[in-house]
Amino acid sequence: MNTIGIILLISFLLNFSLAIVVIARQRNKEANIWYSMFSFAVSFWILSLFFLFEYKSNLAGKLAFLFTSILPPLLYHFSLRFPKNDVSISNVGPNISITLGTIFGITSLFNLIVEKNLFSEQGVRVVFGPLIYPFIAYFIYYFVYIFVLLWKKYKKAYGIQKQQLRYLFWGVIIFAVSAVMTNLILPVFGITQLNSLGPAFSFIMLGSITYSISKHRLLDIRFVITRSVIYGLLLSLVTLLLVFAVFLSGQYFGNTYAGKIVSAISVAIIIVFGLDPFKLLLSNITDKIFFKAKINYQAILRKLSETLNYELDQNKLIRELRTTLRQELKLRQAATLLRKTNANGTDRFEAMPELLVDNPSMVVRNSSALVKYLRDHKHVAILESLERKIEDSTDEQNKLLLASKLEFERMGMALAYPIFAQGHLIAILVLGPKLSGDSFSNEDLNLIEVLGPQIGSAIQKANLFQEVKEFSAGLQVKVEEATTELRERNTSLTTLQTLTKEITKNLDFNTVVQEIADAVANKLGYMGAILVFLDDDGVTVRARAVTNTPLTAKAVGVLGEPFQNFTTRLDDPEHANLAHQVLIHGEIMMSASMAQVLTPPIPRIVADGMQKILGIKTMVLVPINTEGKTIGCIEIGVQKEPDHISRQELDTMQSMADELGVVARNLRLFAQIQNTNRKLEDANRHLQQLDQAKSEFVSIASHQLRTPMTGIKGYLSMLADGDFGKLAPEHVKIMRELLGESDRMIRLINQFLNVSKIEAGKFTYAKVPVKLDALVEQQVNELTKVAADKKLKLEFKKPRKALPTVIADPDKLEDVVLNLVDNAIKYTPSGGKIQVSVSAGPNEIEFCVKDSGIGIKSTDAPELFNKFVRGSGIAQIHPDGSGLGLFIAKSIIDAHGGRVWAESDGEGKGSSFKFTLPLNGAK
Ligand code: ADP
Repeated sequence: MNTIGIILLISFLLNFSLAIVVIARQRNKEANIWYSMFSFAVSFWILSLFFLFEYKSNLAGKLAFLFTSILPPLLYHFSLRFPKNDVSISNVGPNISITLGTIFGITSLFNLIVEKNLFSEQGVRVVFGPLIYPFIAYFIYYFVYIFVLLWKKYKKAYGIQKQQLRYLFWGVIIFAVSAVMTNLILPVFGITQLNSLGPAFSFIMLGSITYSISKHRLLDIRFVITRSVIYGLLLSLVTLLLVFAVFLSGQYFGNTYAGKIVSAISVAIIIVFGLDPFKLLLSNITDKIFFKAKINYQAILRKLSETLNYELDQNKLIRELRTTLRQELKLRQAATLLRKTNANGTDRFEAMPELLVDNPSMVVRNSSALVKYLRDHKHVAILESLERKIEDSTDEQNKLLLASKLEFERMGMALAYPIFAQGHLIAILVLGPKLSGDSFSNEDLNLIEVLGPQIGSAIQKANLFQEVKEFSAGLQVKVEEATTELRERNTSLTTLQTLTKEITKNLDFNTVVQEIADAVANKLGYMGAILVFLDDDGVTVRARAVTNTPLTAKAVGVLGEPFQNFTTRLDDPEHANLAHQVLIHGEIMMSASMAQVLTPPIPRIVADGMQKILGIKTMVLVPINTEGKTIGCIEIGVQKEPDHISRQELDTMQSMADELGVVARNLRLFAQIQNTNRKLEDANRHLQQLDQAKSEFVSIASHQLRTPMTGIKGYLSMLADGDFGKLAPEHVKIMRELLGESDRMIRLINQFLNVSKIEAGKFTYAKVPVKLDALVEQQVNELTKVAADKKLKLEFKKPRKALPTVIADPDKLEDVVLNLVDNAIKYTPSGGKIQVSVSAGPNEIEFCVKDSGIGIKSTDAPELFNKFVRGSGIAQIHPDGSGLGLFIAKSIIDAHGGRVWAESDGEGKGSSFKFTLPLNGAK
């Protein structure tokens, strides 16, 4: 067996096994079936050639053409179905091709295409029959047709399919050119030595197609193919040159040695000088075709590493990443989907807002199949490889993969890379298809795998930075808020303080409430306020003050009469307004309508008009409380929406109302005291007038009585003495008794007169040195008879040593002593004993009259010296007392700078009446 035979046999085996591999891989796929049929045909063609060359079999030569004849329809059918099935039923072209193939196949078995094969030492020479030219035309037509078909498909295709078609296209070209050249065209010129090269090239084509069918990713054979194309074409060129050289030398030199040498030298020269430049040219062309988007991965990495390392702004980072990847990898789209938590708590991965505007589909739910797939897979996921996996997977896996694929397609993406940070999926890098329609190369994927973790840590870093930034910004805002609140609180407290100071200065309720109403506008800066209070009846609700500014005055002017006239009743629920609610519940209330607060009593239309004039947006009603009761409310008109009134403002309003509550209570108490005082003053004045009248009456009456009584007494005395003739002894007795009564009457009248004089301040004293012991002795002596008549023992214990004199009015002192001793006689029953004494101390002289009489109740003792006061129950025993004697005695002793008092051990135990007179002041 020679070299050609070996090459043919190896080619046959390789092609045959490729056919088996493809059909075994997917038996029911049409493209696979057509391909393996084609591949089988090729392998049998090669086998036929082997038998032709090795065994000089004529039949094999015919079979070789038979298999060649059916190659075009088989490749045509395959090309129609690969990589996608584009065949429609109405297509007649494919059927015609089969018919033609069959016709030529059958024809090739007769001597029409190949007449005979001439076997010689040099090899086989084919003698063609008449149909060789139609056959060549048929063959070339279909191959050209297939090129055009594949080219059109290639133009439309993208991604992996484009790549597959590209390989198919070049594979077919290499095969067709080489096979047609070596097995058809050259043999026509009588050159059959190169017959085995066509089959060898067929392997390159079939190998690349097989690979592209069985494996989707063809990246690594790109290089092999490229080189194969170059060397295949080079070989074809050299062969052609050689053939032409031989042909030409034959033509011009005959089959001489010189001719052979000339042609060999010229071919050698062309090869030496022409091959390299031609190879370079081919390399450039193929490089342009196969590596047209040559990418500098180093540069991308360098550029992105810088961004990923130093960029702290997350948005900028992601934008930069997107721009670089898109530009450098020439992508239709690129985005980083960041994990976000929704308002409803579900997580999703979404692109930056600016991207979402153009492409709202760039969002993946955390629960989606794609995210699950990426989590499990952990590495870069490509749409194309997903598609392949779907074909290979079981039903169960299929679902997840299919759903992931749909997610890819929905986003218009071709690649996704999960970015983890500390085991958590924090983002997904998604890339769209390449602008060229190419698939992602291994280098692309490597780049993504290298960049992925760096992107993860950069995002995290940016996140942390953002957090810190937000935290400090938040802190700043909080500090500012707190400062503002404090400032506001401070201002409102100061305002309140000055307000309180001013209102507490004032004691008039109406002035105070008016001041507060005005302060609401002047100090607190609101539109104004109405201060409503319950009347004293506890049910009438009445405005007591309204802020007085030009604007409010205008609004109040609309009412037509004083605002105080408009009242409602708390017990009349039919005509209630919001103020009633506040008065009942004691809580702050708000309303956007003034009418709700003022109507009734003010008509709604008027209230609405006022609200318009004043531009009030909210009425705040603040209760005024005092002692646990709500006594009124401050209705504050605010030009802000309720939502814009802060807690702080409400607090200030309430504080003001509380302050007013306290002030109102104080004012009420103050008013009450004032009222009582006024009444007391009136009563006092009245009493004084009465007293005056009484004193005057007593004085007048006494004067008027004393004169006739003195006259009566004179005549009675004269009658008793018998000046008008002797009287019978019983008449004398009566006369004496009448005389005694008139004495008592005169004394009584004197007492009245003295009291009136004392009260009128006209009781005058004529003080002289007085010997009290002598004065007392004389008075006791005068009363001895009266005491004896009552069977009382009256004695005066005269001091052993004469007493020092005192400066006193002797007449008045006589009255005092007489009164005290007379009382002792009066209030001591018969058989009793009365002892009168005077003694001198170092500073004073003391008088004492002690009796064994009825005594004094301890409760009575201090009162007895008051005007008209008599001991309790004494009136029944001694009805003829006046209760004035001790009063006058006290007045006299007081006027001498002395003291007077009573002592008693109790009722029935006797009593002592004592007075002292000072010695020092010789008044
Ligand atoms: P009068 O004796 O006219 O009632 P006085 O002013 O002299 O008025 O006395 C006032 C009262 O003091 C008497 O009514 C009597 O109750 C009481 N009183 C005065 N002296 C004595 C006494 N020696 N013993 C008991 N009670 C006396």
